[in-house]
Amino acid sequence: MSEASAGSLFMVVAPSGAGKSTLVNALLAQEPAIKLSISYTTRAPRPKEEHGREYYFTSVEDFLKRKADGEFLESAEVHGNYYGTSRLLIADQINAGTDVLLEIDWQGAQQVKKRFPQAVGIFILPPSIAALEERLKKRGQDEPQIITRRILAAGGEIAHAPEFEYVIINQEFASALTELNSIVRATRCRFSQQAARNASLFAQFGIHANPS
Ligand code: 5GP
Repeated sequence: MSEASAGSLFMVVAPSGAGKSTLVNALLAQEPAIKLSISYTTRAPRPKEEHGREYYFTSVEDFLKRKADGEFLESAEVHGNYYGTSRLLIADQINAGTDVLLEIDWQGAQQVKKRFPQAVGIFILPPSIAALEERLKKRGQDEPQIITRRILAAGGEIAHAPEFEYVIINQEFASALTELNSIVRATRCRFSQQAARNASLFAQFGIHANPS
């Protein structure tokens, strides 16, 4: 992703139970042109998850081999499992004008930001710790000890919220979604993105980056 990338790279980060996936799925329904990157994970699939849709589910051995081969743009251990974003196509897609969204943790976001400083970080906060616990329990997709582990980890994840440009408090779903969509739209209007997407118009007006 260069200074002149036409597409944007979004990173959406949240503690488990903040409602991140529901928000991201609703955003993608409104903005189907955004491409969601599908990560690799060593976590076992949840009942309704499908290989190649939510994640590429794989073994620890396969994951570590891919990591050693330099296949990941970023990777991290989260709640005792490995997760990683395949580097394949991400820079190409962004340079070609496609917006890409990564649903990753704060460790991955730090790694991506080093490689792509223009990546936009969005942190989703639950309205309270009690709401987060309730959402995790209601989801009922994880074992009780996994839920407890995630609740305990939430404080550590939330401590990284100040590293993000944007914070959305997911109290009321519709407003949180509007806020997320507004961030996407505002990012598309950044000078660098507009200049890359509308090169001939900018040339007609004699607009150049970094006027001196
Ligand atoms: P879950 O197991 O609930 O799907 O995800 C657990 C955590 O791992 C979430 O915070 C999620 O955002 C994060 N995660 C998912 N995919 C990736 C990835 O590719 N890289 C990193 N660093 N974190 C990920």
